[in-house]
Amino acid sequence: MKCPQCQNDHSRVVDSRDSGDSVRRRRQCSECSERFTTYERVHTRALRVAKLDGRREEYDREKLVASLHKACAKRPLAMASIERLADEIEAELANAGRLEVRSSIIGELVMDKLKELDRVAYIRFASVYRDFSDVESFIDAANALLEGQDATVDDSGQMSFLDNRKLPRHRGRRRLKSGAQ
Ligand SMILES: [Zn+2]
Repeated sequence: MKCPQCQNDHSRVVDSRDSGDSVRRRRQCSECSERFTTYERVHTRALRVAKLDGRREEYDREKLVASLHKACAKRPLAMASIERLADEIEAELANAGRLEVRSSIIGELVMDKLKELDRVAYIRFASVYRDFSDVESFIDAANALLEGQDATVDDSGQMSFLDNRKLPRHRGRRRLKSGAQ
């Protein structure tokens, strides 16, 4: 198992947890001390994904990784962190132990993970995934994110694109009354 940081293939296991049908191992690279997680599980049949329109297709990691890369484009993230995110998502899917999973479940998992990893990537993914139909719902999502944010957390400039200008608060469309009074 190569270190995602330096590609060295010696690591030591610092923690190991059995979760039924998979074993999760925390490893530390013996070269650069990077910590990473591996999952070991019995390979069963391929997972099928049930799409919204009722079609089914075989789960495709390449597709997942491609959409993650798209969401994370130009963000200050290591390639390895995207692969790791895909690993985590796959591990959760495997732990659920189903042969078929709805595409929406994968979408929600991706959003949960991206929210922790990079907020800009999260908003990008969510705006496509949730198919925000207008600017207002996009702003609502951004505001919800800001409100849920610990003010001290933002030392990485993740929100800089949102901070540059104040987000307009959702304003009810008040009509100016015309005419008398
Ligand atoms: Zn390393």
